[in-house]
Amino acid sequence: MADHVPQPTFERLWTGTAVSAGVAHAVVHVLKDHFDEPDQDAIAPEAADHEMRRLHAALDVTRQEIEALKREMGAEEGSAESEIFETHLLILQDGSILRQVEKTVREQLVCVDHAYYRLMTKHMEKLRGLQDAYLRERFLDIKDVTQRVMRHLRGELLETPMFDEPVIIVAHDLTPSDTVQLDRSKVLGFALETGSAVSHAAIIAKSLAIPAVVKLQGICETLHSGDAVFLDGEEGHLILNPTAETLARYRSREEQAEKREDVFQLDRHGEAVTLCGRVICVGANAEFVEEAEIVKDSGAEEVGLFRTEMLHLENPDSSEDELAAAYSTVVKSLAPKRVVFRTLDLGGDKVDERLAAEPEPNPFLGWRGIRLSLGRPDMFRMQLRALLRAAIHGRVGIMFPMVSGLQEVLDAKTLLAECAAELERDGQNVPDEIEVGAMIEIPSAALSADQIATEVDFFSLGTNDLIQYTLAVDRLNDRVANLYQPTHPAVLRLIECSVQASRRAGIRIGICGEMASSLELTPLMIGLGLNELSVAAAQVARVKHAIRKLSVPECQALAHQALKCNHSAEILEMTRSHAMRCYPELFE
Ligand code: PEP
Ligand code: MG
Repeated sequence: MADHVPQPTFERLWTGTAVSAGVAHAVVHVLKDHFDEPDQDAIAPEAADHEMRRLHAALDVTRQEIEALKREMGAEEGSAESEIFETHLLILQDGSILRQVEKTVREQLVCVDHAYYRLMTKHMEKLRGLQDAYLRERFLDIKDVTQRVMRHLRGELLETPMFDEPVIIVAHDLTPSDTVQLDRSKVLGFALETGSAVSHAAIIAKSLAIPAVVKLQGICETLHSGDAVFLDGEEGHLILNPTAETLARYRSREEQAEKREDVFQLDRHGEAVTLCGRVICVGANAEFVEEAEIVKDSGAEEVGLFRTEMLHLENPDSSEDELAAAYSTVVKSLAPKRVVFRTLDLGGDKVDERLAAEPEPNPFLGWRGIRLSLGRPDMFRMQLRALLRAAIHGRVGIMFPMVSGLQEVLDAKTLLAECAAELERDGQNVPDEIEVGAMIEIPSAALSADQIATEVDFFSLGTNDLIQYTLAVDRLNDRVANLYQPTHPAVLRLIECSVQASRRAGIRIGICGEMASSLELTPLMIGLGLNELSVAAAQVARVKHAIRKLSVPECQALAHQALKCNHSAEILEMTRSHAMRCYPELFE
């Protein structure tokens, strides 16, 4: 190999969209998409041997990797874990696969990456749609092995096997499953080529209080793991090789921001009472057990939304005891504060491949949330039993996601009651009462909120989805991002409709979508009658500060006006200027 010649380093700036505040200065770890179809590069006949050597080398490293994993997990011979690794090794060393790949490479003169990928995906396709659980598992085995081999063919893992120092993650996009697999204690920020403020990577970044910037075009191609960058989650900048001057400029900006922030943070544990004396409950959203401490410190009065699917994606094989232990840890560490656990909202972009027999053409309109849970009663019961067991340690609410109408709530409540009865029969303690809520995030739920309200104790508006389903705008799609308008008159009408229904039924209503964290929308939210806002932990102090500067009658007048407006931009401008008048210091 040629000697490495150090290249001169130049500062280079990318500007994207800031979706989670804060800054970070560290090296990057580039996550390549390991499963994109490789290019069908043609090769010269004399290059075929070289291609096959590349494949053998990749298979060899993969074998060592699987054997090391097997050792690390301490999988005993004959155990289920050990069988998984054995199966992976068999797939890896399958002679017929090797022969077929070689034939394709030599006869069709295509690169080995493409030949291997095509053959393995053909095998996967055959297994993918099958109902048989055993064969479906084989699909995942082949996928796993193929991913590993592809990664080694591309030389990625050889370059940076893993990060053992703090890093900024650079990726094209980051699915919830990718995100939960990361060692979060070492992740200082996300820099992504795609995504939006309501993508789950952004939401998780906010929960973890780390900066995130999306829509940074071309970074995956240019950056390499180990490059030093500065990530600015305020302005949306990513700077490669930041100079000493740049860093000094940021440091002084940060010092000023920290001083301002300290003022808002001082009173974060106090109640959020409006100028006219209305108490608004400000909670925090959370996804992981370790966030309990962050939430406690944030000044949040409750966890208004605990997204349980992240724990599931992190460890899909958890037993009921393990789930109960994880939920109980959260409940105990936050007691006496209430924790609202949302039952699994799998599906959409939060995919557990073992549950989805085949990929759905339209996953956000498919088997998601409560539909999936009701379709997998064993799994759902296990979660409900675990939640009921955790509920004896403190104040717990259980909330159902993606409810489209009354029937799903009735079905879910029936299962919940059965689980409670079962636990009692088994001699386990169960709480006397447990608050049950429905997320209002599908227009049909908002329009039938009066019916649903008779069966629940509270509503929580999931505006991230409510906006996407009302306006038919994919919350993750850049191309239509300008149409994703929280202040669209139709969205406001659905919120209003849900608030009215909750009032008539005498139940609580709050909001846990990202709209709740947006300080320019706070006057509108309060004016529309939302008395509980659940926001990113890092935003609690600021939202409380904003609320203390508002008067409810003024906000109501604003909402009244807004409901008569025809245009999103006009409504946004009204609430923004109200907010800037009442708390300009939060916009400095
Ligand atoms: C929402 O849709 O607003 C919500 C809070 O749920 P999620 O973002 O997890 O879909
Ligand atoms: Mg949602």
